[in-house]
Amino acid sequence: MNELQTDIVVVGAGASGIGASLAASENGGKVILLEKGDKFGGAGMFGAQGLFAAGSKLQKQNGIDYSPSDAYKEMLNYTHYRSNTRLTKAIINKSADTIDWLAKNGLQTELVNNTQEVHQEHPRVYHQYIDKFDGFQKLMNNFTNNGGQLLTKTVVESINYSADNSIKLIINQDGDSKQITCSKVIFSDGGYVGNQEMVDKYLTINSKDLYSMGERKATGDGIKMLTELGADNSGLGVFENHAASVVSKTDPKWHNNTIFSLTNLPFLWLNRRGERFVNEDIVYDFALWGNTTYTNGGYYYFVLDQPTIDYLKNNQLNWTDSFERTFKTLSHDPMTHAIGPFENIDSDLQEAIDQGAAVCGESIEDLAEKLNLDPTILEKNFEQYNHVVSEKTDSDFGKDSEFLKFNISKAPFYAIKAQSTTLGTIGGISVDDKLHALKTDGQVLPNLFVTGNNASGMYDTSYPTLEGISCAFAWNSGRIAGETAVNELKK
Ligand SMILES: Cc1cc2nc3c(=O)[nH]c(=O)nc-3n(C[C@H](O)[C@H](O)[C@H](O)COP(=O)(O)OP(=O)(O)OC[C@H]3O[C@@H](n4cnc5c(N)ncnc54)[C@H](O)[C@@H]3O)c2cc1C
Repeated sequence: MNELQTDIVVVGAGASGIGASLAASENGGKVILLEKGDKFGGAGMFGAQGLFAAGSKLQKQNGIDYSPSDAYKEMLNYTHYRSNTRLTKAIINKSADTIDWLAKNGLQTELVNNTQEVHQEHPRVYHQYIDKFDGFQKLMNNFTNNGGQLLTKTVVESINYSADNSIKLIINQDGDSKQITCSKVIFSDGGYVGNQEMVDKYLTINSKDLYSMGERKATGDGIKMLTELGADNSGLGVFENHAASVVSKTDPKWHNNTIFSLTNLPFLWLNRRGERFVNEDIVYDFALWGNTTYTNGGYYYFVLDQPTIDYLKNNQLNWTDSFERTFKTLSHDPMTHAIGPFENIDSDLQEAIDQGAAVCGESIEDLAEKLNLDPTILEKNFEQYNHVVSEKTDSDFGKDSEFLKFNISKAPFYAIKAQSTTLGTIGGISVDDKLHALKTDGQVLPNLFVTGNNASGMYDTSYPTLEGISCAFAWNSGRIAGETAVNELKK
């Protein structure tokens, strides 16, 4: 068997694994970086567009007054102090320097307006990647220039670990078994959203109602290995809820612009019992929108009646598509704060019905039957919503009166199902503020580190509303783990 020797092995070449490898290699560590896929980057490159920082030079140059201590307080308020306070402080305190560090190594960012509509009054924190793919390639070039080695199509098959001796990993590189002897292992393989069995175990909704946009290759390999070695995995079960999606029952690649735009607007929403349950303008905060969808059973229906559809077919509506700012910020185009007219809305709705994503009822009773709901509940909720719209005041849930424009009065009625959506899993193995894996008694498992979506502690039950915080966690946790691993080698 081919035998390799190194100081540090990093498992997973996404945001946190690249962060760890680059940091360790530039500090003099000999590093082998293993990547399951044939390309590096993970969700950190193929999905994400930017990261959070507090107190960065870009923020200071732009007069943004938002310090690490402001961010710390905001995070801890959001998580009700149920998260790991030392870890949170460590990540936030490093976040500004990491923006410079990424830029120095080739991944430039620009400070943009926060990308979600409701965060416009919040100090700007989102550092958007410039020329992302080129930037990631430069990071990887710097890693290899530092002497680092990237092995793609490679996974760890087993780990022979004892706290006092060198660690032996049996790896499989595209069919070939090899052994690596090393001093430290950093597990950065991105959580477990790609592992259906684990997702089923930890999800509190029916997994059929979950739409995952996360990294499919993240199958919990590191979490499982660490658990077997006695690591504390009590943080498993936190999903990065993000918005809600209309999904075809038959075609995973189905895309319909009209339906997807309508999903991003605050029409009437009904839960799985047919009741209105929230101020629908929560659609302008992706994390909270995702959370309310998850908490209310994993899906809801948004409902339109025929006069609303006729209006949307013929008129532009001066509401903002909740994703507009995200896309316009990326393309550097001005906002329109308008949608429509949707000239093909009739055929688009029919397409949604054909895809099993929507139903049309010729009456309230017919709609209730097709949705398997109690017609009296549906009728009562339509009546109450119509009352709220006529009053122009949402005395039930406090939706902004700007969005009390359409009532539900005339059949046919269309109900489109929006499902819980996740960007990945964000709870895993417990860590300290240096990203060491911890045992169930809170003590360190020496020489083993955990980063990014594999680690728990930064979040409570859900993804916070601070824009870009999960990539900030990935890069900064990786960097801290890489630096710590090398420092420990020197001792
Ligand atoms: C569509 C989308 C958009 C997002 N947008 C943002 C955003 O704008 N801002 C933000 O802050 N966050 C965003 N996120 C979340 C962010 O991408 C993740 O939090 C971050 O990438 C996590 O980093 P990671 O290193 O833990 O995992 P990843 O970046 O996913 O990397 C994990 C890597 O490990 C590899 N791997 C898995 N198993 C193994 C194994 N056994 N052996 C070797 N390699 C393995 C995978 O192939 C992958 O390359 C987004 C996520 C998605 C899906």
